[in-house]
Amino acid sequence: MRDDALAAIAKAATLAELKQVRIDHAGDRSPLALANREIGALPPQARKEAGQRVGQARGAVSEALAARTAEVEAAELEQSLAAEAVDVTLPVDVEPVGSRHPLTTISEHVADIFIAMGWEIAEGPEVEAEWLNFDALNLGPDHPARTMQDTFWVSPESAAMVLRTHTSPVQARTMLTRTPPIYIACPGRVFRTDELDATHSPVFHQVEGLAIDEGLSMAHLKGTLDHFAQAMFGDGITTRFRPSYFPFTEPSAEVDLLCHVCHNVPGTVESCRTCKGEGWIEWGGCGVVNPRVLIACGVDPERYSGFAFGMGLDRTITGRYDIADLRDLFDGDIRFTEPFGVGL
Ligand SMILES: [Zn+2]
Repeated sequence: MRDDALAAIAKAATLAELKQVRIDHAGDRSPLALANREIGALPPQARKEAGQRVGQARGAVSEALAARTAEVEAAELEQSLAAEAVDVTLPVDVEPVGSRHPLTTISEHVADIFIAMGWEIAEGPEVEAEWLNFDALNLGPDHPARTMQDTFWVSPESAAMVLRTHTSPVQARTMLTRTPPIYIACPGRVFRTDELDATHSPVFHQVEGLAIDEGLSMAHLKGTLDHFAQAMFGDGITTRFRPSYFPFTEPSAEVDLLCHVCHNVPGTVESCRTCKGEGWIEWGGCGVVNPRVLIACGVDPERYSGFAFGMGLDRTITGRYDIADLRDLFDGDIRFTEPFGVGL
């Protein structure tokens, strides 16, 4: 019986076969189990020897079963590992998982650049008090620039609320509630009553920056914008300033970006589509914060100075990717956003 059992165990090649062998040769109805039960019926003098022999046989069978089970398990594991290997070259059906809108990606990229410099990201409401959107920023009721920014008013007019025409009220809010030093970047959505066409939209996106500290000058502004330009567009991309006018800064400048496609290199720049042969791309406005703005926002202009800048994110994207129609950014068609994926 023992030899039969050991032979069957050695022959079993799978766990399923071993299970059957265990039932046949070590189970309750196996010959050895039956023999064990019959020991009691033997004459007393024969019981001891019979008990020893049956016990040894059962021990050998259960040992052999355990050893063989371990062997077969290891072999089956190896087999299944080989059989279930994934062929990564096989074609697969890719389920659409969606992708992030380039405006979201670029806003976060800009935020990362400023956070890396130790700045904070500040946000404010899109429906804003008229005073914060205009007056606090030196755009008084009769200021000509106030009418230049064609504004959506929130009814009733007596509420003096507007859809913010720039992200600058976030700067005013920050100065009013904090004491310098202040270093904030404010990406956000703004609104003006422009027609929607290939190059204009009544809703667009800006990022503004504000730094208020002791001893800040135009030089710090230039250095900050050069660093921002390089972080956005790559090494060697610098900025240049052209004199301009904004009510909230004095002096003020338009910021141009060295064309990141042709780098204004003679021979290449003439045929560059991105900068239209200029070598520079209009990027935004900037300047040293007007002391009148500091006073309106409760900051002592004798002690503190600061700089501010702002640029459009939509134009940054359309310029960078050569997108002809601004409306593509706002249509919400996933065929447009898909190629942008998650990177920039
Ligand atoms: Zn160019």
